[in-house]
Amino acid sequence: MSGPQDRLIEEVTARFGAKAALTDVAAVEPWLSDWRGKYHGASAAVLSPSSTEEVAEMVRLAGALGVALVPQGGNTGMVGGATPPDDGSALILSLRRMNRIRSLDADAGIAVAEAGVILANLHAAAEEQGRRFPLTLGSRGSCTIGGLVATNAGGTQVLRFGTMRALVLGVEAVLPDGGIHDGLSGLKKDNRGYNFDQLLAGSEGTLGIVTAAALRLVPAVKSRAVAWLGLASPADALSVLRELERGTTHVEGFEIVPADSLRLVLRHIPGTRPPLRGDHDWHVLVELTDDGSLKDGPEALLGQLLAPLLQRQLVADAAIAASEAQAEAMWRIRDSISEAERSEGPTLAHDISVAVDAMPDFMVAAAKAVERAFPGTAASGFGHLGDGNVHFHVRPAAANVEQAFDDRSPAITRLVHDLVTAAGGSISAEHGIGQMKREELARLAPGRVAHLRAIKQALDPKSIMNPGKLV
Ligand SMILES: Cc1cc2nc3c(=O)[nH]c(=O)nc-3n(C[C@H](O)[C@H](O)[C@H](O)COP(=O)(O)OP(=O)(O)OC[C@H]3O[C@@H](n4cnc5c(N)ncnc54)[C@H](O)[C@@H]3O)c2cc1C
Repeated sequence: MSGPQDRLIEEVTARFGAKAALTDVAAVEPWLSDWRGKYHGASAAVLSPSSTEEVAEMVRLAGALGVALVPQGGNTGMVGGATPPDDGSALILSLRRMNRIRSLDADAGIAVAEAGVILANLHAAAEEQGRRFPLTLGSRGSCTIGGLVATNAGGTQVLRFGTMRALVLGVEAVLPDGGIHDGLSGLKKDNRGYNFDQLLAGSEGTLGIVTAAALRLVPAVKSRAVAWLGLASPADALSVLRELERGTTHVEGFEIVPADSLRLVLRHIPGTRPPLRGDHDWHVLVELTDDGSLKDGPEALLGQLLAPLLQRQLVADAAIAASEAQAEAMWRIRDSISEAERSEGPTLAHDISVAVDAMPDFMVAAAKAVERAFPGTAASGFGHLGDGNVHFHVRPAAANVEQAFDDRSPAITRLVHDLVTAAGGSISAEHGIGQMKREELARLAPGRVAHLRAIKQALDPKSIMNPGKLV
């Protein structure tokens, strides 16, 4: 007699055709590991619905048969959230065939996109209509709208436009009982109790399958100004941000880069060059964008805003990109830090946040604490200073301590998380919890986990939605 998974696969194939359930081992294989190659699972099939009704039917069948489902979009997540368990106890449910942009209303500034729409495709469609979907990240060529909603993704434009949550106007989703939640009506005001759409944002596939989202669009960018600054400390960097924000609402990117990260990029990434002549302990990449509303354009404004900061020596040196190619070269340095670190050797990455004003002191104090507790390590933070979110990375200070570093890495991560928690911060600023940080979340925030579990239990009592993740 066949088991529940086989019966589900047979039913799905019979009702929706062979395309709706991939069982060929070679076809399933690429979706069993995460992007970083850190987690490897097993699954007898990838279910691939082509419509919301098909998702609902598959979820109803899975519920009746007690088969767990792991929703998957572009599989670019950083915390193993879309990787099935390694005991083969769940089937993957891929939303990739649901890749239609159902509507794009440039006047209303709203796009309704299905879960499997790739972010870069939404960018292109919005641009064609003179609009922009502002959230962007390095994985934009692969990550999907469903995954972005489910992880409440961030990226480099959060400073001005917020995380995915701030851009989600409504969500359509299939809940664990197979019912469809339709939040796509675009209501500006709706006070019928709990905000279900926002509950699904950041739920990491544990409360339901996102099938579509109504998303906010903003005016397209006409031009941008990008500058590279050299300064003395993260505290100075934050003061610069505050000064810029006093002068304009057009600051869209503000990324901090320590000297150490710049050095690694210049060493490992071909074609990169130092943006400034002298040495500086800290650097900032700043971007101003203009939708046509700035009289003299963003470059003139950035120059005006930076001049007094250079005079006061809050900024030690600055270079404003003279061309798009130079602007791209500056962003390439920022975007290549992780790759350069990988070329250098092992790195322990921590995606953390504390209150924005507390971040400069935290970065300096936490690096000292880690290096003191674990001699032979080098710690530093880079990234979204203006969001109070840095990628706090710890590496061996020299190649000859790599082995000892690997042995100590769980203890190093625990210390970083303890320091973040003591500072009132979060051990996951933008990547989520998935399977990677589940135990650490339970250790450090048992009260929060109890509340998450209560919601999970109420909506998914049979635990068929992405079990083993988040809670
Ligand atoms: C190069 C690179 C750069 C990145 N930069 C950033 C960054 O700057 N900021 C940032 O926040 N993240 C970043 N990420 C992480 C990643 O791209 C995001 O987490 C993204 O939102 C994942 O989307 P996805 O479609 O690939 O989802 P997946 O990886 O497939 O899934 C992620 C989670 O969402 C769930 N899920 C997926 N689709 C659905 C659905 N339709 N319904 C319910 N649950 C679903 C999965 O079960 C899983 O738990 C980066 C990743 C890479 C590879």
